[in-house]
Amino acid sequence: MKDIGKEFGKELANHHWNENYRQLVKQAFADPEVQALIAKHRSELTNEELKRSASKVYEFVTIKNQLKRGESTLAPGYEPKLSVVNHTFEVAYVPSQQLLVERKLAEVHSRVKLLNLPKSLRQASLADFEIAGRERAANAATEFIQQYLATPHEFHQGLYLSGSFGVGKTYLLAAIANQLAAENIISMLVHFPSFAVKLKNSIGTSQNTPLIETVKKVPVLMLDDIGADQLSSWIRDDVLGVILQYRMQEQLATFFSSNLSQQQLLGEYLTVNNRGEAEPLKAQRIMERVRYLSREIVMIGQNRRRQ
Ligand code: ADP
Ligand code: MG
Repeated sequence: MKDIGKEFGKELANHHWNENYRQLVKQAFADPEVQALIAKHRSELTNEELKRSASKVYEFVTIKNQLKRGESTLAPGYEPKLSVVNHTFEVAYVPSQQLLVERKLAEVHSRVKLLNLPKSLRQASLADFEIAGRERAANAATEFIQQYLATPHEFHQGLYLSGSFGVGKTYLLAAIANQLAAENIISMLVHFPSFAVKLKNSIGTSQNTPLIETVKKVPVLMLDDIGADQLSSWIRDDVLGVILQYRMQEQLATFFSSNLSQQQLLGEYLTVNNRGEAEPLKAQRIMERVRYLSREIVMIGQNRRRQ
């Protein structure tokens, strides 16, 4: 193969370019990828056409080398691709492998909505879930995912993860949501006490409605830390009750996590409202929905937050 870079260097020498630039262009044409491309298209390219392409070749090699040296470029995340189209060189910018991975990740993340929960939960994964002492929960999670993915339009009972502070209930919910997201399923993880406060603060305004609607209708809902606050009759009956009723009717997967067992949730949370009034029948109605939607798994283990 003829040294096209050298040959073109001679061509450039005849031009009135400044010596510095000529040197740079010559180096660019010496790039092996450029040489290979020229060799492939040599028959269709006249020297005049090569000369006109100098700036494109120079651009391509400059950006390519910047990326190789780990420097930032004018188009971060994109890689230059040189091609010959209609007797001229063209530089196109295509997303780099890294950018594609980042985009894919952002897409997966967008399928898990977190309401008042830390972003770090996006990293939670079943693969990293330490199983010792949590076998039942881990198995139930895997089983749910398998069954849900097999028949996403059928009803699947979610999990009610109960257990003391720090055993990994929230982490496991997030790991399930992240796994489902990788399979295109949309979930929402809601920190229930904060959600209740948010709604109370906007009582009487129409701001509430879209949020309640979203929580009602999301394909997979996870109510985290239910039972950790004091419940008002309004939140119990008109928010929680309405959401759970809808999800039962529409057969939508619903999870809970709580420091309280289902039995305690009924007796210690749902029955007595924040004004101290006992409303056992109303509490019972909510509890029936919770029990229909989820099965209880007790998680035990040490408090991982102290580590
Ligand atoms: P809970 O919701 O039960 O109070 P968390 O899910 O918040 O507990 O877990 C407490 C801490 O331990 C968090 O920092 C979490 O990231 C970590 N963690 C919990 N369970 C696991 C696990 N099985 N594997 C790895 N990290 C875990
Ligand atoms: Mg938690």
